[in-house]
Amino acid sequence: MDQIKIGKFIAACRKDQGMTQAHLAEKLGISDRAVSKWETGKSLPDSGIMLELCELLNINVNELLSGEKIMTESYNKIAEENLLAMRQEVEEKNRQMLNLEIAVGAPAMIAGLVLCGVAAYVEMPTGLRVGLIVFAAVLIIAVAFIAVGIEQKAGYYECQNCYHRYVPTYWQANLAPHIGRQRYMKCPVCGKKSYHKKVLTKGDEKEVQEND
Ligand SMILES: [Zn+2]
Repeated sequence: MDQIKIGKFIAACRKDQGMTQAHLAEKLGISDRAVSKWETGKSLPDSGIMLELCELLNINVNELLSGEKIMTESYNKIAEENLLAMRQEVEEKNRQMLNLEIAVGAPAMIAGLVLCGVAAYVEMPTGLRVGLIVFAAVLIIAVAFIAVGIEQKAGYYECQNCYHRYVPTYWQANLAPHIGRQRYMKCPVCGKKSYHKKVLTKGDEKEVQEND
């Protein structure tokens, strides 16, 4: 143990508490000289007095013996920051997936509709016309299924009655009537039907919603 370091730490904590060496000595029922000896690193407080000393200095024994404050708050803070970072990563991934839904879905949808228009209005043999319409229909349906699949997996849906957040099954999401990304579904927890909102995380404290 580093007596000098401990001594300096005792002195610093004592000053933080607004006490003189004499005050501290009086409260502990010992001589000023004993306090002075600790603070200059010439001796250590004996174990019988340590708890009381720590209490007066507002530190714990572990800190007294290390000669420094042990920052449990900073450990907690780092842990919290890590959690937050992880959560943001998940959120970002979900956001990217939803953007992908639009990036892939919208052009394919437009292409399908354009093909339908071409098939309907441009002169061509009947076989080709039917082929084009079938191709366009398959394209539109396939894209719709893929888009719903992405949407169902990215993030969660939130019940507007009990605010439970969950991932519906593919078919539940696919067959549900929707307005934008809000889907009319039955909540697995409260059983009420409502338009469930799309949310990016499962957490409750931070509201993150996709509004489009
Ligand atoms: Zn509910």
